[in-house]
Amino acid sequence: MPHCVPCDRFYNPNSLSEQGCCPTCGHQVAEVPEPAKLSRFGHEGAPWHFKLLIAVTVVYLGYRLLQAMAWAVHSI
Ligand SMILES: [Zn+2]
Repeated sequence: MPHCVPCDRFYNPNSLSEQGCCPTCGHQVAEVPEPAKLSRFGHEGAPWHFKLLIAVTVVYLGYRLLQAMAWAVHSI
């Protein structure tokens, strides 16, 4: 938990400024958070196996839709 020595206060990490400074006196009390650690999806995008899963799901659902349409046509 970040602690500001001049103010003698403990802070919630979310209440600090973006640079990890005390909101009252501006003293550096925490390490600067790295944006890469906060969201790896921001610059990497979705992982390849997730895209593969989506592609396979789309192909399967398209196949099932064709099956359903063929069944509907034959059952008339
Ligand atoms: Zn302070």
